[in-house]
Amino acid sequence: MAHANKKQFAVIGMGRFGLSVATALSNMGLDVLAIDADEHRTQMVANLVTHAVSADSTDEEALRALGIRNFDVVVVAIGEDIQASILTTLILKDLGSPLIVVKAQNELHGKVLQKIGADKVIYPERDMGLRVAHHLTSPNVLDYIELSDEYSIVEMRVSAEMVGKNLIELDIRARFGCNVMAIKRGARMNISPSAAERLTTDDVLVIVGEKNDLTKLELAYAEA
Ligand code: ATP
Repeated sequence: MAHANKKQFAVIGMGRFGLSVATALSNMGLDVLAIDADEHRTQMVANLVTHAVSADSTDEEALRALGIRNFDVVVVAIGEDIQASILTTLILKDLGSPLIVVKAQNELHGKVLQKIGADKVIYPERDMGLRVAHHLTSPNVLDYIELSDEYSIVEMRVSAEMVGKNLIELDIRARFGCNVMAIKRGARMNISPSAAERLTTDDVLVIVGEKNDLTKLELAYAEA
């Protein structure tokens, strides 16, 4: 099932999130094995991915038989059944999967996953909730990405009062302690913006900073 050269992905759990990851990878032309205990779910994705099989991922023999350890990346997208998610991760770790990405239902679940060796723990609902909240409090915020407990990146449309000014005049670093990393202008992205660059109406700023500082900046430029 697994070929040399091309990366092989397996996604376990075809809920909304798992299905979305599996089909996105497949649409990118990558080989995807979709696994779900529920046969209806596997049938549903059968023609969207390379292979779809019904198997219980808490059954070590079943995973072994699928040659799961030959897959470069395994995504565990079992949400509600936390026990199944943890057991699956443990088995994958034991079988020697090189990269295990697991969706966590909550912080505690995430901590356990990290302890047992998940390489990456993701919180899709929490992260999307954060993005929506930032967009709602400051509609200029187009995207919000958490980098760590302390730092984030925001993508922010320039507000009316920023238009025509340059980065020296805005003085975002001194006023908010944040750094403008890039300016997006249409399809172009200037990744080392000059301080003298005058901002135009449709520009989008990509800013990195401490979360509290970013929030102050977002609110300072919030406009309906
Ligand atoms: P989403 O919010 O992304 O829709 P969810 O967090 O609600 O998903 P669940 O619905 O709990 O996630 O699980 C996703 C899928 O995982 C379901 O289709 C379920 O059949 C499958 N699943 C649950 N346990 C196992 C298991 N042990 N082995 C394989 N698949 C499983």
